[in-house]
Amino acid sequence: MYCKKCGSEIDANANVCPNCGANQHENTQPANVRSNGDAPSFGYAVLGFFFPVVGLILFLVWRDEYPLRAKSCGKGALISVILSFVSGIIWGIIVIVAASAAAGGMTGMAAATALLL
Ligand SMILES: [Zn+2]
Repeated sequence: MYCKKCGSEIDANANVCPNCGANQHENTQPANVRSNGDAPSFGYAVLGFFFPVVGLILFLVWRDEYPLRAKSCGKGALISVILSFVSGIIWGIIVIVAASAAAGGMTGMAAATALLL
């Protein structure tokens, strides 16, 4: 490869140019990260939230190539799964409470009926 600053031919693995001393890696790496278009995405988080399966698939597909975008998808899917899990528990509690209240009401009514008769 060639030095970014002075243009003289240098070793491809060299960190600094032996000719002028310019750092060869400092400028290349952030440019590479930016060039692949990877960034956290709220839109994909929302997509993952409404379609957790799609979010999970996108997370697995993009995990290596676009880690930040993959994380957004995964996060949305994860929040969705947690929320549905929590609401499932809440509904379970409501059903149990309602059922036991109904059962308690029935026994109370049965006892009241027995007393009256
Ligand atoms: Zn140089």
